[in-house]
Amino acid sequence: MSEVALVTGGNRGIGLAIALRLRAAGYQVVVACRSGNAPAGLSAVELDVSDAESIESGFTKVESEFGAVSVLVANAGITRDGLLLRMSDEDIDEVLNTNLAGAIRLARRGLRSMLKARNGRIIFISSVVGMLGSAGQVNYAASKAGLVGAGRSLAREVGSRSITVNVVTPGFVETDMTADLDQDRKAAILGAVPLGRYAQADEVAALVQFLASQDAGYITGAVIPIDGGLGMGH
Ligand code: NDP
Repeated sequence: MSEVALVTGGNRGIGLAIALRLRAAGYQVVVACRSGNAPAGLSAVELDVSDAESIESGFTKVESEFGAVSVLVANAGITRDGLLLRMSDEDIDEVLNTNLAGAIRLARRGLRSMLKARNGRIIFISSVVGMLGSAGQVNYAASKAGLVGAGRSLAREVGSRSITVNVVTPGFVETDMTADLDQDRKAAILGAVPLGRYAQADEVAALVQFLASQDAGYITGAVIPIDGGLGMGH
């Protein structure tokens, strides 16, 4: 039986690209999403990462239907942008709870079977802005920087059990998340990217596929940029 990979937010955007890549590589892929509806050809489970009970019930369902999860990709994320002075408590709480606490709770749940198996891959999808900073994204950048501390700490906790924990920091990828940015902001970002283009979601997925593979068995606690050079030096 092939390994089970769970990808949160795998119903669209970067998560979907990751799910499709992993499926093509032979994993049994389960997409974890709020609606529980899978894109064609993929399996899905209803799981809201901002809700601890939903993580527990979604994960339990995946284990009973597909088996223990050995590759966990914490990709689900949201933005609630705005300058800090005008940012509501809700915007702060929702972003931190979904992007950071959600990923941490998910990893805690996923570890149960990985520790027993003495094998596993946990991959956090962070962002270049976690290190670089981004005006108007104090909440989002904090959540993404938090994943670095969380990932490195967890890598130290579980390394002796052959479980790797890595953090991927994409630059600008054209998805629904970035579709709302105005043209001036997009042009400014593009001007700062040495490669002079945005990333394709599938390029991020290729990196995740490698980190999930046996070939990446000696990589843990790493923060790996895939940003066209935008964040270099951080
Ligand atoms: P999208 O907005 O296209 O997709 C976000 C995904 O996250 C959706 O599948 C969404 O599900 C899911 N999601 C949001 N909240 C929850 C929740 N509470 N529970 C479960 N799933 C949830 O984003 P991207 O594909 O662009 O981004 C994916 C990840 O990559 C995010 O973590 C993002 O921060 C990060 N990233 C994106 C970059 C970019 O330029 N696009 C750059 C750097 C990092 P639903 O359909 O239910 O809303």
